[in-house]
Amino acid sequence: MEQKVSENVLIELKGLTKRYGYGDTESFALKDFNLSVKRGEFIMIMGPSGCGKTTLLDIIGLLDRASYGEYYLNGENVAGISARRQARLRAKKIGFIFQNFNLIDDLPIIENVSLPLIYSGYSKTSRLKKASTALKRFHLEEREYYLPYQLSGGQQQRVAIARAIVSDPEIILADEPTGNLDSRSSHIVMEELKAIHEEGNTIIMVTHNPALTVYATRVINMLDGQIDTDIKTVADANLPQPISVKIKKKKDNFASLEDVGKSLKKHKKSRRKK
Ligand code: ADP
Ligand code: MG
Repeated sequence: MEQKVSENVLIELKGLTKRYGYGDTESFALKDFNLSVKRGEFIMIMGPSGCGKTTLLDIIGLLDRASYGEYYLNGENVAGISARRQARLRAKKIGFIFQNFNLIDDLPIIENVSLPLIYSGYSKTSRLKKASTALKRFHLEEREYYLPYQLSGGQQQRVAIARAIVSDPEIILADEPTGNLDSRSSHIVMEELKAIHEEGNTIIMVTHNPALTVYATRVINMLDGQIDTDIKTVADANLPQPISVKIKKKKDNFASLEDVGKSLKKHKKSRRKK
């Protein structure tokens, strides 16, 4: 059956440009960047250090804004929306996985995993239940009340993946998720991402490891803030279809927005250190 192309487009970037500095110090992390992402794609982004990979993910993830250009998420131009709306959209639609896991050190892992559900309208109990279910999937149910430092790197990254999928987001963004892991833990993390993709989720992942591109349906090489090569290894018609079940939402207020902010600030801080 023929499907309308536009219905399947999740993300559309048009002429996206990220500029730093002015005049003599002017530089471009992204330059007139165009990209269309369909539901069910597993895109891997490669390219030399400094070519704009993280900037791209941060903009797609609504953690950062482009200097110019358009960003359509589900057909809605989200480039110019308020920070508040960005935060809501981010919590609902986007799951993040970072190289350094970015868990909150002083929160038990079950609470770390429940953080993205703060905007969801679930009660605290429901949020912890959902977090617990997500942790089970990664065989971490016996460690729910451990603190992040009590887990290995591989386990911490699995907690981070549980956190990324707990709100059933439309897109999962992963910035070198295996960059700090040994090969065995990397393999486990990649198998988890593969399973999540096969359930119909859309994933965009940055990696330095060409061996990992076997998991991708599309490999994009970037150079100097632009796309150098873009190769689809799976035809659009053969991308997995979503099988997620949407659950009805309830209204609830719960103050831990601060923790969500903390988690994101941690990412920004680790960016600045580089
Ligand atoms: P990658 O993830 O591919 O290594 P980045 O997206 O982190 O690249 O960075 C792209 C370019 O933007 C780099 O040249 C980097 O120095 C520059 N850049 C990133 N963040 C800032 C910033 N806050 N101020 C100035 N330049 C920045
Ligand atoms: Mg980077």
